[in-house]
Amino acid sequence: MSFEKLGVMKPLLSAIKELGYEHPTTIQKRAIPLVLAKKDIFATAQTGTGKTAGFGLPMLQRLRHTDENNRVIRGVILSPTRELAIQIYDDLTKYGKNLNLKIGLLVGAKDIDSQRKMISKGLDIVIATPGRIIEHTEKGLNLKYVEIFVLDEADRMLDMGFVKEIKRLHPLLPRKHQTLLFSATFSDKVRKLSKLILNKPAFIETSKKNSTVDTINQIAYMVDTNRKAELLAYLIGSRNFNQVLVFTRTKASADELAKELKKDGLKCGVIHGDKTKASRLKALTQFKEGKTRVLVATDIASRGLDIEHLPYVINYELPSIPEDYVHRVGRTGRAGREGEAITLLDIYEKYAVKDIEILIGQKIPKDVVEGFEPDPTIRRKDVDEVKLKSEHKKDTKKPFKKHYKKTTNKHRRVTKRG
Ligand code: AMP
Repeated sequence: MSFEKLGVMKPLLSAIKELGYEHPTTIQKRAIPLVLAKKDIFATAQTGTGKTAGFGLPMLQRLRHTDENNRVIRGVILSPTRELAIQIYDDLTKYGKNLNLKIGLLVGAKDIDSQRKMISKGLDIVIATPGRIIEHTEKGLNLKYVEIFVLDEADRMLDMGFVKEIKRLHPLLPRKHQTLLFSATFSDKVRKLSKLILNKPAFIETSKKNSTVDTINQIAYMVDTNRKAELLAYLIGSRNFNQVLVFTRTKASADELAKELKKDGLKCGVIHGDKTKASRLKALTQFKEGKTRVLVATDIASRGLDIEHLPYVINYELPSIPEDYVHRVGRTGRAGREGEAITLLDIYEKYAVKDIEILIGQKIPKDVVEGFEPDPTIRRKDVDEVKLKSEHKKDTKKPFKKHYKKTTNKHRRVTKRG
């Protein structure tokens, strides 16, 4: 199957050829003809599957005819984070380089007035974060002519509490328009939203529910909690990892870990929810450009990051929600390339990892690194209270007992996330 056979037109074909896209990915094969046929779609596709081109190419093709003297917004792409919005913008700009379409980026932290000026000069497509596009609509942005509305990473958007914004935006669109909803997971919240905004959608499920990407080698190293940073630095150094994305569960441990790694002489950046957007973007750019070797990130802040050829992802701590493991390791092994996901597992997490294994339907092989064997005298019950209390102190000022919500599943904790 070729892009041409899917109905992709010449100016787009030559643009993607330059990018080295030879064969369409699964999501592209399924989504492109449906989008061209003006169908609503509901697709579960993880980042790394090529979904941006899956909606971007046919969207550009459908909207290619524009009135240069009177451009109106006919395409809106909503993204949960600024970083992902920028990536979509970059991709669409490259795909559409041979078309006469104007694409705009409407994300927070940038000056709203210059964005308004850009809008008033005329745009065909906007890529926006929910809060910022609402601000623009309040200042008169007209969405009455929108033909295609895309919600990317819809599950994350809902997790981040953007349902209000989506519900406010929806009535501003014309009654007849095409909606494309992409989500990494098929959660109940997403299903509920889909009922509200989609019209007889075609369903596309490109990967087994919540399965991890096949080309990723997964391994977990058992290690004591207090030796994790040391092991991480050792792995990076001894295996010569030149570009590695490291996940922590909390903002506090992201900062702390970055400090430790810097002490070990490793150049490293941090991305989490307390960092300004400018500093998140700077950290990402420096990492992409190879100026830093390690990027430490929390789950929310890292979602949707597209870092090409990322060979290694390390889970320094397990995520609070098992689904986030899938998102994390999805940063590697992108578009058919091999990747490696390493998890550092302390005695506490040995139990939590089971939830992840159930979710992904496979066991993650466990091993130890010589010299970092866990101390057999440490038992889980000794670790629990100490670790929870210290994490709690770092992350919140609320009293420990109130904040620690017991669930039926003992090893799940509720703390403030990145
Ligand atoms: P996405 O899932 O849209 O974030 O895409 C993941 C990565 O795959 C990006 O770096 C794309 O540039 C790349 N990509 C998308 N489609 C293809 C394709 N058909 N062939 C090769 N690479 C692709």
